[in-house]
Amino acid sequence: MRTLRVGMSGSDVMELQALLQKLGYDVGAVDGVFGPRTENAVIAFQRRFGLTPDGIVGPNTYRVLEPFLRGYDLYVIRPGDTFGSIAQRYGVRPETIAIANPDQDPNRLMIGQRIVVPYEMNLVDTNINYTYEVLARDIDGLKARYPFLETGSIGNSVLGRNLFYIRLGTGPNEVSYNAAHHALEWITSPLLMKFTEEYLRAYTSGQMLPGGYDPRVLWNQSSIYIVPMVNPDGVDLVLNGLSPSNPYYTDLIQWNKGSTDFSRDWEANNRGVDLNHNYDAAWDLSKAAEAEYGVTGPGPTRYSGPYPVSEPETQAMVAFTNRHNFRLVMAYHSQGEVIYWNFMNMAPPEGRTIGEQLSQISGYRLDETTGIASFAGYKDWFIQQTRRPGYTIEVGRGVNPLPISQFDEIYRDNIGMLIFAATV
Ligand SMILES: [Zn+2]
Repeated sequence: MRTLRVGMSGSDVMELQALLQKLGYDVGAVDGVFGPRTENAVIAFQRRFGLTPDGIVGPNTYRVLEPFLRGYDLYVIRPGDTFGSIAQRYGVRPETIAIANPDQDPNRLMIGQRIVVPYEMNLVDTNINYTYEVLARDIDGLKARYPFLETGSIGNSVLGRNLFYIRLGTGPNEVSYNAAHHALEWITSPLLMKFTEEYLRAYTSGQMLPGGYDPRVLWNQSSIYIVPMVNPDGVDLVLNGLSPSNPYYTDLIQWNKGSTDFSRDWEANNRGVDLNHNYDAAWDLSKAAEAEYGVTGPGPTRYSGPYPVSEPETQAMVAFTNRHNFRLVMAYHSQGEVIYWNFMNMAPPEGRTIGEQLSQISGYRLDETTGIASFAGYKDWFIQQTRRPGYTIEVGRGVNPLPISQFDEIYRDNIGMLIFAATV
C-alpha cells in the first residue's frame, strides 16, 4: 500500500475513508479525495491508538488499520481468557468468535494459540470502488469469519489475477452466478459479494432470508457457485487506471484510441477482447457483426477475439461450468433493468417461465436480445450447451459505469432473485 496523505486521491483513499467512517470517524463524503476532513479523521484515529498524529497513513498507521481493513484480528490466548472475556475486550459477541474458531473448545482454550477475532461490522463495503484488491480482502475476511466456507480460484486472468469463486451451500442443486464480465459493470461484483455476506450471516444466525426462506434449508438444498469478478484486469483498468508496469501498456493505449483514460468506456479484458463476445455460441455471427459497429480489432468493447474462447478468462469459465452440473446460471451486467433469457430459441420452455418469475420478483423486464448482443455471451453458450435456463441480468439504469450510489436500489431489486434462482 502506498502512503496516503492530504491532496491525494484514488480507490485506496476511498477505501480508507469508508473504513474510518465504519469505525465512527467523520470523513465527510466517501469520495476518494483525501481532504482536510479525512486528515482530521486520520489524526483522531492515530491519537486513539497511540500513533504519531500527523494525518499521514504510512506503514505504522497501516499496521494498526490493517486488522480493521481485513475485518478481523489475530489474538494469542493468555491464561485466564475465555471467549466471553476476549469478546468483551473487542466489543464483539462470543458467538462470533466461536463460529470463527470451530476447533477451539471454549471450555479448554489453549494458552499461546492464535485465534481469529472478527469485528462485528459489515465486511463488504458497498459505497466504494470495488477493486480486485478489495474483493480479495473481502474473501479472506469472510473465510476467517466462516472457516467452513469453500472458496478458491477457477483460473487466472491475462495478468495472472485470480478468478475467485465462492461456494454457498452444500446441497446437490447446483446453480451459478457471475459478475463483471464487463469491466465498466463492476458494480455487479459488490452485488454478489454483499449477497454472499448476508447469506452467510443468515445461515450462521438462523435468521430467515428475504422472502421467508430458511437459510439452513436452502444451504442443504443448493450449492450456489459465485464468480464475483470474471474480468479483474479490466476492472483494475477502469478503477485504478493503466499502470506503467502493465506489459500491454503501449498496446492498451493504442487499442483505447490513444487515450490513457480507461474509466469511461473500457469493457474488455487486458488484451482488448470483450469477454462476453468470446464464447463459442454463434461466435461467427458476433465476429461478422463487428464491422457494423466499426470494430476492427482489440479495443474497449465488442471485439470478439481472434477465435472462440481465446482468452484465459473465458477458458476458465467454460472449464468451471463443464466441471459442474448447473441447473441454472445468471450472468450479471449493467445496465437497463432487464433480464435476457433466450438464445436462438434454444432455451427450454421453463427458461421463459422461470424468467417470468424472476421478472416479477425484481421488477425487471423479461426480454430477448437483438443485434450483436445476441451472440457469443456466457449465457448464450450455457443455453446452447445444456438447454437449461441461463440469464443475463442487466442491473440499474443510466450510463455505464453506474455510480455506486445506485447500489442500495440495485441490491433491493436483486436480492429476491438471487435467493429464488437457487430454489427452482
Ligand atoms: Zn455487460
